[in-house]
Amino acid sequence: MKYIDEYRDADLVKKTAAEIGRTITQPWTIMEICGGQTHAIMHFGIDQLLPPEIELVHGPGCPVCVTPLEQIDKALAIASRPDVIFTSYGDMLRVPGSGRDLFSVRATGGDVRVVYSPLDAVKIAQDNPDKQIVFFAIGFETTAPANAMSVVQAKALGLSNYSVLVSHVRVPPAMHAILGSPTNRVQSFLAAGHVNAVMGYWEYPSIAEKYRTPIVVTGFEPLDILQGILMTVRQLEEGRATVENAYPRAVTFEGNKPAQAVINQVFRDCDRKWRGIGTIPASGWCLAPEFVAFNAEERFDVQQIQSEESPLCISGLILQGLHKPDECPAFGKECTPEHPLGATMVSNEGACAAYYRYRRDLMA
Ligand code: SF4
Repeated sequence: MKYIDEYRDADLVKKTAAEIGRTITQPWTIMEICGGQTHAIMHFGIDQLLPPEIELVHGPGCPVCVTPLEQIDKALAIASRPDVIFTSYGDMLRVPGSGRDLFSVRATGGDVRVVYSPLDAVKIAQDNPDKQIVFFAIGFETTAPANAMSVVQAKALGLSNYSVLVSHVRVPPAMHAILGSPTNRVQSFLAAGHVNAVMGYWEYPSIAEKYRTPIVVTGFEPLDILQGILMTVRQLEEGRATVENAYPRAVTFEGNKPAQAVINQVFRDCDRKWRGIGTIPASGWCLAPEFVAFNAEERFDVQQIQSEESPLCISGLILQGLHKPDECPAFGKECTPEHPLGATMVSNEGACAAYYRYRRDLMA
C-alpha cells in the first residue's frame, strides 16, 4: 500500500538503524511526544533495533491519557441525564471515571453514541430537537479544527440543543513544562507529525533555541521514526539545536492555515489540567466568549466536580519521561487493560498499554 509499505521496508529499516549506530558516540535521551509513535515503537520493536546509548522516553501526547479524571466524571454526569444524547469518539467510552465508564452509563439506559466526526453530532442535534446533544471535544491540535467547526456550524444553524465538553490540550506548552522542569531528563524531541500537519512547526524554533534542544518533526511508520531519531542524533552529536522536518510528505512549516483559522475563531488559550501532571499554564483551549453558549460544563452545571486519582498510579511521571511503565509497582498486577488504574493503561496509545501488549517480557 502506497505510503505504508515503503515506510516499512525491512532493508531500509535495518540500514537506517545501522546508520544511527555509526553516528552515535554517547548516551542520549529522546522523547517521542506522541502516543501513536510510542505504540509504533513498541509494536515494531524499534526500541530493540537501536544502539544501547539511546533511551527513548514516552511523552504526554496521548489525548485519552491526559484528559483529567474529573473531565471523565463530568462526561459521566452529563451522559447519565435522561434529556441528553452524549456523543464521543469511541476511545473515550472505555476510560474509567471515578466509579464507572461511558459504556456502563449506556448499559444502564444512558443514550451514549460513538460518532466519527463532531459534525455527525451536529446532525444528531438537528434530528432530535427535543434532546440536548453533547459532544466530548477532547484531544490535541489534531482534532481541534473539526471540533471547532462543529460549534461554528451549530451556531450558524441556530441550534440551542448542541454543546461541547471541551478538554483540548496543546503540545508547545507541554514541551516548555517538560524542558523547564528541574527534574527534566529529555535532551531532544520527536515532534508529533499529525499535530504539525495542522499547526505547522513555526511555534517550535523558539523552544529549541531557549532550551538548546533539537526537535525533529516525525511521522509514524518505522522508517519515519528511525529517520527522526537519526536526524535527532546527528544534531545532538554535532551540538546543534534546531527544528527539522522528517515528515515533509505531510507537514509544512506554516501548517494548515484554514484549520488554524477556525481554531482561532472558536477557541482561546486557557490553563488546562493534564491527567497525572497537573495544571500547565495556557496549555489548553477553551471556548471564546462569543461561543460560551455552547459550553456543556456551564449548561449542565458540572464545573464543581473534582476527582481523586489512584494513589498507586505513577502515570504522571511516565508522561514526563521520568519513569517507564514497567517501573510502576502496579504494572500488570493491580493494573491491566481489563482493570486499568490510570489512563495510560486504557488507551491503545498509552505507554502502559503499549508495554503491556508488546513488552510483557519486562513484567517482574
Ligand atoms: S501501570 Fe497502571 S497504575 Fe501504573 S502508571 Fe501505568 S496506568 Fe498507572
